[in-house]
Amino acid sequence: MKHYFGPNGKLSQSFADYEVRGPQNEMAEAVFDAINTGQNLIVEAGTGVGKTLAYLIPIFESGKSAVISTATKVLQHQLLEKDIPVIKKVTGLNPDVSILKGRSNYLCLLRKEQFMLNPLFRSKRDIPVWAEVKAWLSFTEAGDFSEMEEVPVNHPILTSLNADRNYCTGSKCPFYRECYFYRARKKAQKSQIVLVNHHLLFADLSVKETNFATILPLHPVLTVDEAHKLEDIATSQFGEMLTARMIAVLLGQLPGELKFRHTEKFRELLEDPVFDSDMKFRQRGVVSEEMKEKLLALKPGLETLRKDLTALDDDTFEMRDNLIRRIGSFFDFLDTLENQDFVKYYDSNSGARQFRSVPIDISSKIEQAFSGNFETIIMTSATLSVRKKLDFFKNRVGLKDAKSCLLASTFDFKNNTILYVPKTLPDVNQDAFRPAAVEEIIRILNLTEGRAFLLCTSHRNVSCFADELRARTELNILKQGESSAPGLVGRFIMEQNSVLVGSFSFWEGIDVKGEALSCVIIDRLPFPQPDEPVFKARADRMENGFFGYSVPLAVLQFKQGLGRLIRSNEDRGILCVLDNRVLTKRYGKIFLESFYPVPLTRSLDEVKKFLAQS
Ligand code: SF4
Repeated sequence: MKHYFGPNGKLSQSFADYEVRGPQNEMAEAVFDAINTGQNLIVEAGTGVGKTLAYLIPIFESGKSAVISTATKVLQHQLLEKDIPVIKKVTGLNPDVSILKGRSNYLCLLRKEQFMLNPLFRSKRDIPVWAEVKAWLSFTEAGDFSEMEEVPVNHPILTSLNADRNYCTGSKCPFYRECYFYRARKKAQKSQIVLVNHHLLFADLSVKETNFATILPLHPVLTVDEAHKLEDIATSQFGEMLTARMIAVLLGQLPGELKFRHTEKFRELLEDPVFDSDMKFRQRGVVSEEMKEKLLALKPGLETLRKDLTALDDDTFEMRDNLIRRIGSFFDFLDTLENQDFVKYYDSNSGARQFRSVPIDISSKIEQAFSGNFETIIMTSATLSVRKKLDFFKNRVGLKDAKSCLLASTFDFKNNTILYVPKTLPDVNQDAFRPAAVEEIIRILNLTEGRAFLLCTSHRNVSCFADELRARTELNILKQGESSAPGLVGRFIMEQNSVLVGSFSFWEGIDVKGEALSCVIIDRLPFPQPDEPVFKARADRMENGFFGYSVPLAVLQFKQGLGRLIRSNEDRGILCVLDNRVLTKRYGKIFLESFYPVPLTRSLDEVKKFLAQS
């Protein structure tokens, strides 16, 4: 791969600002070798390595067709609009590339026709949005909502027009041939390179789209970028879910007399407080025996409904098969209630209570999904290793025999940052910690003049710290929840002396280069909540759940959080951990040894000196 990545390689010749990086060439060689020998490979590529070019160029050169999966749409679009055009230019190769998104991103032509006949607006504010959608309809070729930059894909107008499978009759639909979603699938089947996200990857591999053949295994190479998100996303995709609303929507789609009869039967069951998020239960917890009983009481009604639907003629009622399939998935959920290999929990965070069940052992599910479907699987991210080893990640994603490649960041952490752990703060579990932490944070922010991310492990700390800082400093405090995440990051960059205070959604995926971000503070080591149902079920199955699961998860999160600071060769600044367990506990070493080697200080004067050298 030197002819691309070397000092006089094609990249240097094509781009005057291209920086030759040894680790990037090393990664490209490893990827090329894995593709040619049909092996699996896991690469941790530290920040600055340039990993996207390091896997895309070998894929192009190999001539093999490939699926590239990302966790975020941002990266998916970056690949399509920025990186792939660069590689086409540099390699002179022009493979057919397509992007495939989930159904909610595409317009459903049938729902659009129905909406036009009977437009239902939830508020006056929807009317100009509908005007914008109508204008877009006149020119769109892909039916992809992202073409309308001003309208978010979860806007109520778009959710009532999208290709939601709950409203889709598939090949019986009069618009099936022109359908944007199915056309995108067909195009992806024929493309040499397909860009997907992790949700879609697992939806396709677990054949949840039961009516349709899977498309991804037709491509021998699978590359998973942002692979640190894989386990969580696989967990949600391989799980089952049931809500009262899912049943109510289905009942609402029944024809005539069936609708009346069955809605009456379910009314009392669905009005039970067990489905209500505001009642006596906590926001998230394990399904209790009482809940289980009430959920299982749905079974006889669902069975009768399934029989009644099966007796209907599918030519006269086109939604019949769709509804029968969905009732089948309700039974899949109800059956897991008795299965010891699933953890059953409820979640009321987003409004109405959702009941979920997910496999406790996710690695064997992922392994089964991948098995025999790809010649080569490549997984990469900047954050996969614990204590310079990839074993934890390999075991979690079922790729125990994959080759490993660990590439350090190309940024100069040693000289460009300093890690400060205050000496005098109480233990994070003591009541005295929070007020003392506020004093310490103010001292640090006075030195850095804001320009900091304050990354918290709880919403309570976000509120407490943000409110105190607002009351006691002149800094521009931006608090999570007061605006959208991109809006807050935009303001952080544009406005002077800003401090962004946020919880886990700000620990990763945010890239702020330059002086605007000169300090990252984390309030405590990010251990998972010990009573979080999925975490607890998995940890309980291990011999030592703390060191085997809790610590490695926290280490990966810790690396993500602190990794926000240095995003380019020019970046410089302070890392601060307010949790002194990182130095006082045995496991603290694992955190420090897993991060980049940075000088450690316990003195604020040292921090001051470091900043004075800037
Ligand atoms: S096939 Fe399904 S998604 Fe496509 S237009 Fe018809 S109903 Fe909508």
